[in-house]
Amino acid sequence: MENKLNSKRKVCIKTFGCQMNVRDSEALLGLFLAKGYKSVDNPKDADAILLNTCAVRAHAEHRVRSILGSYKKLSGVRRQLSDGDKKRTEGRNLKPGNCKIIGLVGCMAANSGKEIFERMPHVNLIVSPAKLHKIPAYIEKIKKENIRIIDLEDKEREEIFYSASYRIKPGYAQVVISTGCSNYCSYCVVPNVRGGLRLRKPKDIISEVKRNVSLGIKKITLLGQNVNDYRIESCGFASDSKSHRLKTVNFVDLLKMVEELDGVEEIDFLTPHPKNTTKELFKLMAESKKIKKYLHLPFQAGSDRILRLMHRGYTKKEYLALVDDYKTIVGGTIGTDIIVGFPTETEEDFLHTKDILEKLRFMGAYIFKYSPRPGTHAQKLKDDVPQRIKEKRHAVLLELQKKISNA
Ligand code: SAH
Ligand code: SF4
Repeated sequence: MENKLNSKRKVCIKTFGCQMNVRDSEALLGLFLAKGYKSVDNPKDADAILLNTCAVRAHAEHRVRSILGSYKKLSGVRRQLSDGDKKRTEGRNLKPGNCKIIGLVGCMAANSGKEIFERMPHVNLIVSPAKLHKIPAYIEKIKKENIRIIDLEDKEREEIFYSASYRIKPGYAQVVISTGCSNYCSYCVVPNVRGGLRLRKPKDIISEVKRNVSLGIKKITLLGQNVNDYRIESCGFASDSKSHRLKTVNFVDLLKMVEELDGVEEIDFLTPHPKNTTKELFKLMAESKKIKKYLHLPFQAGSDRILRLMHRGYTKKEYLALVDDYKTIVGGTIGTDIIVGFPTETEEDFLHTKDILEKLRFMGAYIFKYSPRPGTHAQKLKDDVPQRIKEKRHAVLLELQKKISNA
C-alpha cells in the first residue's frame, strides 16, 4: 500500500565529502527505495532533493550554499517569509502535497542549519547526521502539512537506519562501526557536527555484515572516524558465542570477528589514527588472508610543533617508526592525508611534511589547504599563513606525490 502510494515519488540525493557520507547517502536512499521511491540524478525531476553535506573544509560548505541558492527557482518560493511566520511555507505558491522538498542534511546541517533555515525559506528540511533515518517520515509530513522541518538533535543513531539492502556498488559494502569522534584534533569540526564517539554494538555490526553476505557481498569496508577508538564491553560475540561473560571488544577483536565470517572474502577499514594504531593490528593484517594489506594513515603534518598544535598525539619520529613497523610486519602499501598552511606553519615546518612524503612513498595522498572551522580549537589561532603560500605548498606536495604515484 505504502509502496503504491510512493511509486511516483522521486528522490535525488547529492553527496559531498567523505566515505562516511557516501555510506550514509546509500543507507538513506535504501530507506526511500524500500518505500517505493525512485532515485533520480537530475534535481529537476525530483520531488525531494537532498544534499548530504560535509563541513570539514570551508570550500565544501561554500559549494553547497551556492547549490542551495540555485534551487530557489525549482522550489517555487516567491518571496521571503515574514519573521513571525518562519515555520510555515507561506512564501510558496503551492498547495499542500505539491511542494518540492529541498533538504540540507548531514554535517553542514549541524553546523549551519539554523542560519540556513532563517536565510533560505525555500530550504524546507534540515536534518542532523544522527536523525537521517527520520527523513522519509519528515518528507511525508511536509507534503501533508506544508510545513518546514528542522531537526538538529544529536543522539545515538537508530539501527533501523542501516536496515535497507540497497548497495551502490554490486558485491561491495561499507559498514559503519562508530559515529562521531572524541579526538578533538584542533583543526577538525567532526566532533562538533557529528557529536562525540558512539559505538555500534558488535552484534549489530556482525548482523549487518551477515546480511551483506546473504546478499552475495564479499568485500567489506569497516568505517569509523578513528577505527582504533573502538572499545566496548560485550558478551556472547562470534568467537566466544556461548559465553555470557562481559568482555572488552577492541577494534582488532572486531576485525577478527568479521574475518571469521564465512562468505566474507576481502576486508579493509577507514580510518586508523597513528596515535593508537598498534602492532596487534599489524600482526592480524599480516596473518589474515582476507584483510587488505593497505593502511590509510593520515599524518597531517611533519613538524612536531605543528603536530602538537594540531593535538595529534604523536611526533614525526613516532610516525616514521610506526610506518616502519607496518612495513616490517605487514609489508603492504600506505596512503595518507596532509594539511598545509596550518596557523604559524613556517617554511621549515613545511619541509618536515615534504620530507615525510618523500621518505615514505605513499600510494596516494589527500592534500588539503587549512581552513578555520567554527567551534574548533584552531579557530582561535590566527589563520596567518597567506593564501598564496598555502597554494604554493599545496602545489609542491601535489607535484611530488604525482611523481611518486606515477613512478
Ligand atoms: N577521521 C578521519 C578523517 C577526518 S576529515 C581522520 O582522522 O583521518 C578528512 C581530512 O580532512 C583530515 O584527515 C584532514 O586532512 C582534512 N581536514 C580536516 N579538517 C580540516 C581543516 N580545517 N582544513 C583543512 N583540512 C582539514
Ligand atoms: Fe577529526 Fe581528528 Fe576525529 Fe579525524 S580523529 S575526525 S581528524 S577529530
